Amino acid sequence: MRQRELKIRLVTRNCPQCGSPLVLIEDSTHVWIGCEKCGAYVRIDKKTIAKKVAGSPVFPWVEIIEGLYEALYQIYQ
Ligand SMILES: [Zn+2]
Repeated sequence: MRQRELKIRLVTRNCPQCGSPLVLIEDSTHVWIGCEKCGAYVRIDKKTIAKKVAGSPVFPWVEIIEGLYEALYQIYQ
């Protein structure tokens, strides 16, 4: 089976390391925010996300993306 992957270019913030646009990637197991130019990235396990959103009627995209940005900026600032 072909692995499905979603890739979205983010426009709200740039890479803390090189200033390039960041991308959001979802693959079969994780959601990533990273830089295709310099390779900086963070990721979160989809099981962890599933636990966070359990019982919630809406999917908290902002929280999840902001959390990933925060982790990325802590690692690569
Ligand atoms: Zn970069």
